[in-house]
Amino acid sequence: MVDRADILICGGGIIGLTIAGKLLKKGYENIVILEKEEEIGKHASGRNSGVLHAGIYYSRDSLKAKLCLKGNRMMKDYCGRKNIPVFETGKVIVAKNERETSVLNELYKRALNNGAKVELIDNKRLKSIEPFARTLKYALFSPDTAVVDPQKILNSIEEELTGSGKVKILKGSELREIRSSREVVTNRGNIRFDLFVNAAGAFSDRIAHIFSTGLNYKILPFKGTYRKLAKEKSHLVKSNIYPVPDVRNPFLGVHFTRTVNGTVYVGPTAIPALGREHYEFLKGIDKELFEIVYREGVLFLQNPGFRNVAISEPKKYFSRYFFNEVKDMLDNLKIEDIQPSNKVGIRPQLVDWKKKELVMDFVVLKHETSIHILNAVSPAFTSSMAFAEFVVEKHLS
Ligand SMILES: Cc1cc2nc3c(=O)[nH]c(=O)nc-3n(C[C@H](O)[C@H](O)[C@H](O)COP(=O)(O)OP(=O)(O)OC[C@H]3O[C@@H](n4cnc5c(N)ncnc54)[C@H](O)[C@@H]3O)c2cc1C
Repeated sequence: MVDRADILICGGGIIGLTIAGKLLKKGYENIVILEKEEEIGKHASGRNSGVLHAGIYYSRDSLKAKLCLKGNRMMKDYCGRKNIPVFETGKVIVAKNERETSVLNELYKRALNNGAKVELIDNKRLKSIEPFARTLKYALFSPDTAVVDPQKILNSIEEELTGSGKVKILKGSELREIRSSREVVTNRGNIRFDLFVNAAGAFSDRIAHIFSTGLNYKILPFKGTYRKLAKEKSHLVKSNIYPVPDVRNPFLGVHFTRTVNGTVYVGPTAIPALGREHYEFLKGIDKELFEIVYREGVLFLQNPGFRNVAISEPKKYFSRYFFNEVKDMLDNLKIEDIQPSNKVGIRPQLVDWKKKELVMDFVVLKHETSIHILNAVSPAFTSSMAFAEFVVEKHLS
């Protein structure tokens, strides 16, 4: 067991791994990553849609706007160098009514402000890209959106880091508490460090709190379930077909994504979950349940946006309701074409508890000898390489 690190990172998801990679490039040595699971990719980084987003939705001056597009390019370059497949098919956002059409215009402006390449396309052009997609007047086309296999990328970065001889990934090692501002306690013994990086995903608020920072933030877990198109109907989707989202909340809406292996997933939902790892019916619910339900109850009463999500999203457990949500996006879609799937992820959404608001942007806090990455929600997989560069340049140079 290791008992000292120059830099100690908690969390071996895409954020922890890419930060370690950037530190390595900067010449740091003796970097240690704590990962509580026996394998990497067990949580958000290995359970997402694999979409490399292209800077469309995010408000100007946000970290998401600054890092998404750059991260998209860096991830594509990385995959190119490592021979990891990237499915460069773009994506369309379709509108089903006048209200959504005006939001589409808003998204178009936001995307241009963020430097993203987008086009408003008419139905004829839409059909040449996605022959079965349906929209009211026009759709938004993003040619730079792509799809990757996230686990392949995680495995490749892991191999590179451990191969350097300067990074150790301690699997099955869970950070439990801190002994001082330079020493943590894990299930496998204590580790001293010069600098600590919290990249613990769904547990990042808890880790920040034990370092006495970010005390007004709490994570609420949302369950992202997926269904899939029947194999014989997968030709209906060539790339990514997204709905117009409600831009007041951070979720993009249930969409169609053709993965690198050809399966077309439909999802994810954003259903308030009962635990940070509540992937299955009862599995993943622990003693925090009552606290989570309390937080959800308070937000339900005080935050109309959350109330909307809490009322509409759980209905997506029902096939008929789920189908109604997506049926207008594709021609020839029948309820039986959408089949169950066991793909599911948890979206650990940060809440500013003082304001009772869902936090829209990524959050980075520096506190004494520690840096905390909070709210690394979508598009953090896409943004990760640019995000890591930003964190290291801003806080470690
Ligand atoms: C359903 C879904 C779909 C998504 N789709 C996309 C998409 O298409 N494109 C995109 O860009 N993003 C997407 N995202 C977001 C993206 O997956 C996440 O933003 C990203 O993976 C976050 O990475 P992370 O390293 O912060 O978290 P994680 O991958 O969760 O990694 C955190 C790690 O920390 C470990 N850990 C936690 N606590 C401790 C502890 N105490 N001690 C040791 N280890 C600990 C965990 O085991 C975990 O492995 C999606 C997310 C979900 C859930």
